[in-house]
Amino acid sequence: MSFLIIFARRFVAGEELIEAVPAIKTLNEKGIMVTFDHLGENVSSEEMAKAAADSYLEILDVIQKEKLNSNVSLKLTQMGLDLGDDFCLQNVERIVSKAKENNNFVRIDMEGSAYTQRTLDITYKLFEKYGNVGVVIQAMLLRSEDDIKELNRRGIRVRLCKGAYKEPESVAFQKKEQVNENYIKLMKMLLLEGNYPGIATHDEKIIGECKRFSQENKIENSRFEFQMLYGIRRDLQVSLVKEGYNMRVYVPYGKEWFPYFYRRLRERKENVFFVLKNFFKG
Ligand SMILES: Cc1cc2nc3c(=O)[nH]c(=O)nc-3n(C[C@H](O)[C@H](O)[C@H](O)COP(=O)(O)OP(=O)(O)OC[C@H]3O[C@@H](n4cnc5c(N)ncnc54)[C@H](O)[C@@H]3O)c2cc1C
Repeated sequence: MSFLIIFARRFVAGEELIEAVPAIKTLNEKGIMVTFDHLGENVSSEEMAKAAADSYLEILDVIQKEKLNSNVSLKLTQMGLDLGDDFCLQNVERIVSKAKENNNFVRIDMEGSAYTQRTLDITYKLFEKYGNVGVVIQAMLLRSEDDIKELNRRGIRVRLCKGAYKEPESVAFQKKEQVNENYIKLMKMLLLEGNYPGIATHDEKIIGECKRFSQENKIENSRFEFQMLYGIRRDLQVSLVKEGYNMRVYVPYGKEWFPYFYRRLRERKENVFFVLKNFFKG
């Protein structure tokens, strides 16, 4: 293991697939489901994109062989979106079709707003052909309400998150309160009309509102799941399972961990102190 990953280790399950498997087993033993992510984004050659897709085929095999309770999450720029939509679609299709054979599910992560429409278009095509695909919607984007309406209409599974990319005022809410308010609005649309939404947040107020709203509207716990990131609010992950909610944790692994790690640091200044403190501890 490289020197640097020691600092990222709280958020990343390892650099190799084999290192991540025990982390998934431990979560599964606690009643927590997983979505497995092989880190990587914005590849610059077809070879790299194909290799990234191959790594997901291997992950799907490992999930099956090790009987892990896990689906997979991937990024389209890792699958060659910058090299062309058709190329990317064909590359991802290999994963989705193998997941279908294995009775598994593929979640397409959402990246910066420059990719939103293309990500949705590819999701729509894959969903029509295979069905076992879902996508992510970011509450910070102004367009998300319309996107949720369309995804609900099509019956596509949505993971709702706040959004991890810095976006301009022209496309995104800039204030935290506006993002939270929009999150709650979109969450209610998904709970009422969506197909098994993933409520992806560590925000206790929003989680509380989800519980309250679903009880008030007689939406059973089996109709949605909470989702959190590996290494964040582990206490809350376990307590939600004990309360009878579905809980899924996003477990990333791989050598390309820096952009992911950087986004986690940016989200919370305490994380920078955590990293520095461990650095000086030696
Ligand atoms: C399962 C999952 C999948 C995701 N997929 C995507 C995606 O495809 N595209 C995308 O743009 N974003 C994605 N995100 C990231 C998301 O957009 C947010 O950036 C991230 O979840 C932080 O927002 P929050 O909802 O937890 O709320 P915040 O208001 O940021 O945080 C609420 C509380 O959660 C805890 N917390 C949040 N972040 C951290 C952290 N980094 N370290 C320690 N504690 C923290 C703190 O206690 C904080 O007070 C995903 C998030 C999750 C949980």
